[in-house]
Amino acid sequence: MTAKTCNVDHNKSTCTCSFSCGRKGLCCECVEYHRSRGEMPGCYFPKDAERGGDRSIANFINIVKQKGTAFLT
Ligand code: SF4
Repeated sequence: MTAKTCNVDHNKSTCTCSFSCGRKGLCCECVEYHRSRGEMPGCYFPKDAERGGDRSIANFINIVKQKGTAFLT
């Protein structure tokens, strides 16, 4: 079995988060950080909501109720 490695450069190139932080491209650390705060990573939010910085699960649920999940694809 081949060990998988994290492709940070690729992750950075596809990351939709508009904030700068040391976790950009390190998706496992990004998820851990936001999960520990009761939040979701920026890439789960549509562009306009992502820029607002409210990463709460409640905000995500409200957005999905309003817009559905098509923005995730
Ligand atoms: S979602 Fe949060 S942890 Fe992830 S890259 Fe953006 S600011 Fe950093």
